[in-house]
Amino acid sequence: MHSDDQLFVRLMEGKLALIRAADLLPEELVALVERVLPLQMQAHAQAQVSLPDPAACASDEAMFAGSPMILRENFPHDMAQALRLFPLLLDLLADTSGAASHAANTLRAAMAAGELDPAQALRALPAGDEALFADWRQRLPESPRALGFLAASALWPSLNAAALALATRLPENLPHEHGHCPLCGSLPYITFLRGKEGQRFGVCSFCGFEHRIRRISCPYCDESDTSKLKLFRVAEYPGVTVGVCETCSMYVKTLDYRELDQGLLPALDDMATVALDVLAQGQGYKRPTLSAWGF
Ligand SMILES: [Zn+2]
Ligand SMILES: [Zn+2]
Repeated sequence: MHSDDQLFVRLMEGKLALIRAADLLPEELVALVERVLPLQMQAHAQAQVSLPDPAACASDEAMFAGSPMILRENFPHDMAQALRLFPLLLDLLADTSGAASHAANTLRAAMAAGELDPAQALRALPAGDEALFADWRQRLPESPRALGFLAASALWPSLNAAALALATRLPENLPHEHGHCPLCGSLPYITFLRGKEGQRFGVCSFCGFEHRIRRISCPYCDESDTSKLKLFRVAEYPGVTVGVCETCSMYVKTLDYRELDQGLLPALDDMATVALDVLAQGQGYKRPTLSAWGF
């Protein structure tokens, strides 16, 4: 095994241990993620993406004014890879216990009967076409996010590989007064502080790109009036802040990696701090994005 891979496995195992210690998420879900993440990391390294001609992307001028480089529906990804990952992920889902496993078998039967086409689900996600997912949420009330999880998890490796390649084309000194991703325009699902000066970054809920945002601001409505923004912390979660916004009633978690003696793995850090979501939502604040896993 490559030493980077070993580092990654150690990082992942550490975070999974934290998630299990918090004991708020069902073990089936944690065990599922434990198997999905290595598959995604391998796929990430192998993803084949062809980038669009820069002329087909937003101009530097438009990006400086806040436009994303490419719209989600046109965002490059490796469809062939996502189609290969879909049944593998479905197998992992079927291997869990309880409702998720039942959902996987229902989805599999629908595929065999020609009622569900994975390619359609994989196209619907970037297109923001909710109808198919809404239909399956209704059909699988015990595990409503099953199809969303499969589509998001199958697409993530190549969307993120494309994002990293496209990021090299971002103009220098791009302003960061907006919270959305400069590549695809989607909202972050979590934010973090890094570096000596505590620069703040959002992690894109669609392409996973980590983009600079303003330190004091709501990444969802761009409010920066400190009288409208409140922060709270919980002793059990050092280094994690919940920021709530009175203007849009949304909240976001911010992880301070200067205080946390571990590397960054936002998709798992989000799960490890789910207690704070429960707290913020209990106070009436909303989270506008799903997890990186589409649930
Ligand atoms: Zn993005
Ligand atoms: Zn806001």
